[in-house]
Formats: sequence, structure tokens, C-alpha cells
Amino acid sequence: MNNLLDLPSPLIHLTSEFLREKAVDLWIKREDLIHPHLSGNKWRKLEFNLEERKKQQKKGILTFGGAYSNHVYATAAAGQLFDFPTIGVIRGEATLPLNPTLSFASKAGMKLDYVDRTTYRDKEKLKSMYQAQYPDYYLLPEGGTNIYAIPGCARTVEELSNQLDQLPDYICLACGTGGTLAGIVSGLMGDSKVLGFSALKGDFHQQDIQQLLAEANIKDPKNWSINTDYHFGGYARRTPALDAFITAFNTNYGIPLEWIYTGKLMYGIFDLIEKGFFPKGSKIVVIHTGGIR
Ligand SMILES: *Cc1c(COP(=O)(O)O)cnc(C)c1O
Repeated sequence: MNNLLDLPSPLIHLTSEFLREKAVDLWIKREDLIHPHLSGNKWRKLEFNLEERKKQQKKGILTFGGAYSNHVYATAAAGQLFDFPTIGVIRGEATLPLNPTLSFASKAGMKLDYVDRTTYRDKEKLKSMYQAQYPDYYLLPEGGTNIYAIPGCARTVEELSNQLDQLPDYICLACGTGGTLAGIVSGLMGDSKVLGFSALKGDFHQQDIQQLLAEANIKDPKNWSINTDYHFGGYARRTPALDAFITAFNTNYGIPLEWIYTGKLMYGIFDLIEKGFFPKGSKIVVIHTGGIR
């Protein structure tokens, strides 16, 4: 099935006067180029879940998310590409016309089901309700983050070690649930440090990631940390400064970023480079987790 996908994802070296001056060696792994609709970390998190669906002989996949969820979008795309039915349980009321995410999902064949926010909040109850209603569906949690997401995300690091002579000093990526970071950490050998940049307000990542690693029986290598300085007010919040940075980055490096995850990440990295956070000569790989439509 992977001949539909562009793997390994390209690793691009970024060059500019600024980076030369600051003496950091900056690379970007373009996971956003894996597939136009199944991009970035959402494919990585799905890969082994798709196999698990087959193993469990479930007919389709049912998953959960907000109305703008990249994961819901990617699951719908996977269903269409690999030919299995999908159901998206969407938080909140149905609004018409459908937004671009849900419109894509619907056209890709996903059945949409809306759940009010109060009901949605009780994840365990919601899950058992839907599993009872759709016993022949494989249930995937919000964001696609579960233990099967981990080996898929570890593949990113496997590819990296083939693409570089040695693993970088730093691997940087954006975090929502932290599932992708857990997978990257699990696949990592050597001394790289993993820096997660939170796209959300709050300190829950640390615990969630530790819990996920424990659940997957992976010894925490403790080589990672979460930076919470660049969420710009919280999930999906944006500011003129962030928008200006994204435009300038695209002009200077020819790479698109979005403002929910990768824009905030790259803003944070450039700010930290400016402030001298990374020692001179550091090799940094940024994971472009996708999210561009
Ligand atoms: C979903 C998403 C993330 C967050 O991934 P987690 O595994 O939930 O931390 C990061 N970047 C992009 C572009 C995403 O769509």
C-alpha cells in the first residue's frame, strides 16, 4: 500500500545569512510531502493502526475529533485510499456549509456524526457508546494517538538515521497530544535531544507522554522536553507576528507552514536560535508534521 505514499520523506538543508551567522546547521524533514491528503505525522500515527484494524478483522475505522481535526481529515483520506469505510464523530453541532476539513472528509466517504460538547467530554463513556453501536468498527482515539501510533512515528527517526551520517543534536517538533513525540523518542538511539513545542496552553504533555510510553512498554529515555513558550495564547490562536513570520519563512526558504502547529514551532526555533539557546555548531532537525492543505 505504501507505493501510494512518498517515502522516505525528504530531508532538506536550510541555508541563509541568518543561519550562517548563528552557526547552526538546520534541517527540515518534510513529512508534509508524504501525501497530499495523508500528510505528516497523521500518516505515521495511522500506519500501524491500519494494520491493527485488519488484524482485528474490523470493517472500518471510527474516530473522534474537532471540526478542524487534521486527524479526522487524514482518516477519511486513508479510508478512501485503502478502501475501507470511516466514521468521524465530531465534537459540537453540525454547521452548514461544511468547513473545508469536514467537506473533504465527507467527499472522501466518511460518515459524520455530531456529538454535543458535554457528551463528548466523557471520553470513556463516548467510546463504549460508539463501540456498542458499531461493533464491527475499529475505534481510534482523538488525534490518532494510542500505542499503535508509536511504531509509525518511530519510522521518521529510522529514515533520518539513513539520511544523515549521524543523528542530530536536536530533533524539534510540534506537539498536540504528544503522541508523535512519544514515537520519535521511542525510535531514537544515540544522544539526540528531542524538543517538543506545545501548540496548546497547559502542562499536561509531560504526564500524557510518560503514560503513553509506559502503556507501550517503552523505557522512557528521558532525552526529551516540552517547551510551552510558543503557543501564542493557546490552541489555534494566532497573532499578526506569527502570521508575518510564516509569510517571511515561506519567502525565505520556500516552505509552507500553517499557524496551528508548524508555524508556532518554527517561530519558536528561530527565536531560540536568535537568543543563542542552541550551542554553536549544533545540528538541528525540524520535523515538518504537515497540516498544509
Ligand atoms: C496533529 C498534528 C500535530 C500534533 O501531533 P501529536 O501527535 O498530537 O502531538 C502536529 N503537527 C501537525 C501538523 C498536526 O496535524
